[in-house]
Amino acid sequence: MSTQTEVLILGAGGAGMMCAIQAGKRGRKVILLDHARKVGGKILISGGGRCNFTNLGASPNQYVSNNPHFAKSALARFTPQDFIDLVNDHGIAYHEKKLGQQFCDGSAQQIVDLLMDECKSANAEFRLETRVNLIEPLSPERAPLRFKVFTSSGEFECESLVVATGGLSIPKIGATGFGYEVAKQFGLSLVDRAAALDGFVLNREDEIRFQGLAGLSFDSTIEVRGKIFREAILFTHAGLSGPATLQASLHWYPGDAVKVDLLPGLEVFEWFLQKKKSGNKSIVKNLLSELLPARLAERFCELHFPDPRPLPDVSEKELKSFCGVLKAWTFIPKETVGYSKAEVTRGGVDTQELSSKTLETKKVPGLYFIGEVVDVTGWLGGYNFQWAWASGAAAGAVV
Ligand SMILES: Cc1cc2nc3c(=O)[nH]c(=O)nc-3n(C[C@H](O)[C@H](O)[C@H](O)COP(=O)(O)OP(=O)(O)OC[C@H]3O[C@@H](n4cnc5c(N)ncnc54)[C@H](O)[C@@H]3O)c2cc1C
Repeated sequence: MSTQTEVLILGAGGAGMMCAIQAGKRGRKVILLDHARKVGGKILISGGGRCNFTNLGASPNQYVSNNPHFAKSALARFTPQDFIDLVNDHGIAYHEKKLGQQFCDGSAQQIVDLLMDECKSANAEFRLETRVNLIEPLSPERAPLRFKVFTSSGEFECESLVVATGGLSIPKIGATGFGYEVAKQFGLSLVDRAAALDGFVLNREDEIRFQGLAGLSFDSTIEVRGKIFREAILFTHAGLSGPATLQASLHWYPGDAVKVDLLPGLEVFEWFLQKKKSGNKSIVKNLLSELLPARLAERFCELHFPDPRPLPDVSEKELKSFCGVLKAWTFIPKETVGYSKAEVTRGGVDTQELSSKTLETKKVPGLYFIGEVVDVTGWLGGYNFQWAWASGAAAGAVV
């Protein structure tokens, strides 16, 4: 015997649960399936355990997609304030860390509890530790039922099937490419996937040049393909991490150069000239250590200014050329670290296949894709959860 339900949601992450809440509140019978033992695994590990659950400035401009307009409709209809209202209703204390980013004061578990409570009020049921084996479209005579789903917990028949299985990052907590396989099964096109919001692995030469700097962090502006972010960069054993690197990785494709200004907001050539004019006799490395972490200053001098001399012995031409390197350190990363560390997957189900209003597929009535599985990927800073909530709410209003 199959269990019949109006709405079957595959994946009980942020997007799936928000969809369940909205649909359940409309009186729809909803079941959520997930192969994990607990729901919301990614929420729990997000934001360093405090969940950066939205960003006050979220707008379509902070999302990468083949169709930059696609996210507009859903984002406009479920706003950061809508989620904050829920957070307030549940008495969860939160704060803005920086740049509009909203974090729980306590723990990310509070956001999972909020979603679970809301699902419960909406009478949505969960079937956890459930593996999906097969999805079959039902014949039109079975209308309004449209899909049969064979799982390790039995068979389900539903009117609306919502795929909310997320992207590929962090397989060890249950991420799979399942949603992409469903898209292929129904003949939907996919945009190439890549690990994003991720660190860079340096190429072999740069790895040797910068070895021994792991743990060192500095303020920067970073530029890839004309996108510029000002945040911190962190040297790691493999290469670079830190928020600026993660942001840059979202726009990076293999072979692209990355340009870093190590001293954002400072005309460093003018700064050195002033020192020179005022009779400063320090050697360049020591002066640069006033502006950058000492080991980093030392390394850049070894690489680009190897002859340590006091400032009066350094020509303006030499200084200008060295400052050029500091303001535009350019390198080509070997790769990103990969899905074991990346926060998201760029690419996914092609938005051309979906209605931007409802997230329903145009080719297969009753089949929906929401959340990270779709080719809409946000910047670091709460934007990806905002997309999960907004796309989940958009589908939840119609399924
Ligand atoms: C370390 C880390 C930190 C992050 N921090 C933030 C942050 O602070 N702010 C922010 O906005 N974003 C953050 N993100 C990104 C954010 O977590 C995701 O974009 C968001 O969770 C996507 O929601 P989703 O519901 O689409 O997918 P997911 O949350 O990934 O949910 C998908 C669900 O589907 C289930 N599933 C997968 N495959 C199957 C299958 N075959 N069968 C059954 N179930 C399946 C999974 O178990 C999971 O429960 C972070 C990501 C990571 C990895």
